[in-house]
Amino acid sequence: MTESTLHAKLLDGKRVAAEIADKTAARVEAIKQRSGATPCLVTVLVGDDPASVTYTRMKRKRCEALGMTSRKVELPAETTTGQLVAALTELAEDTSVHGILLQHPVPGPIDERAAFEAIPAAKDVDGVTMHSFAAMSFGLPGFHCATPGGIVRLIDAYDIDVTGMHAVVVGRSPILGKPMAALLLQRNATVTVCHSRTKQLPEIVKQADLVVAAVGKPQFVQGGWIKDGAIVIDAGYNPGNVGDCDFDGCAARASLITPVPGGVGPMTIATLIEQTADAAAEQLGLDGV
Ligand code: NAP
Repeated sequence: MTESTLHAKLLDGKRVAAEIADKTAARVEAIKQRSGATPCLVTVLVGDDPASVTYTRMKRKRCEALGMTSRKVELPAETTTGQLVAALTELAEDTSVHGILLQHPVPGPIDERAAFEAIPAAKDVDGVTMHSFAAMSFGLPGFHCATPGGIVRLIDAYDIDVTGMHAVVVGRSPILGKPMAALLLQRNATVTVCHSRTKQLPEIVKQADLVVAAVGKPQFVQGGWIKDGAIVIDAGYNPGNVGDCDFDGCAARASLITPVPGGVGPMTIATLIEQTADAAAEQLGLDGV
């Protein structure tokens, strides 16, 4: 896209995530000095899906770059729900572990909900349990689901007040669309949630002041669906660094848009590591860190 056709300004998730990371690194240092303990995140991966292997490695590397420790638990694809729950329960009881991330999706035969619920709320730094979802929906203290949590942090960093906006969330997964809708509602947006059975999707998206695309289909949301001046948040991440929105088409209409990569992705990791520092401070009984 040329400068003349790019209408939207970019919401720079990479920059905002780096600012959060700097603050988190300072907090990690303070936690270490005051408690002698090092905040620790454990990633749990079932199977060897290449994208999941990459994501968990990125998350651990980010933790380590900020002075935290990280461990990995890797289980074979044939792992049963019972075996996964047992592994998570062991981590739940390990006082040297402050945050637990179970990489989604787990292989089909596993009861993913049962596995997520084996993570105690205090260590649910990825915000995937029913407890975290309920707390988030009620506006009570607790951990945000990392991707929608990252999106609200990005919106806040740009001083965007969504009060009264019509927000359209395309996608209703438990880790993205639904918690996104809850967080936007909590911030007084008027929220419409769309999914694969939604009729006349383009017409609904055209009414949006804020669109969140969380579909898992490359370049799915078209520029022609976007109202002039709307804000477009592309949560999608598909092979080849492609989002769920047609970037050029949407950027020609939107006022603000997240790039892929460099938008929502870095904010997800920033939220995860920030919440791991929060979890460590809480579990170590440290106030004001
Ligand atoms: P998901 O579990 O597959 O959910 C996709 C959602 O899109 C579902 O609710 C589905 O509706 C809806 N959908 C599918 N086809 C549709 C259609 N034709 N029209 C309208 N809605 C449709 O995916 P997810 O885990 O939420 O992930 C969504 C995207 O976010 C993916 O691109 C993923 O890679 C990305 N992601 C990015 C990050 C990050 O850190 N950047 C983190 C997580 C996910 P139904 O419910 O009716 O099936």
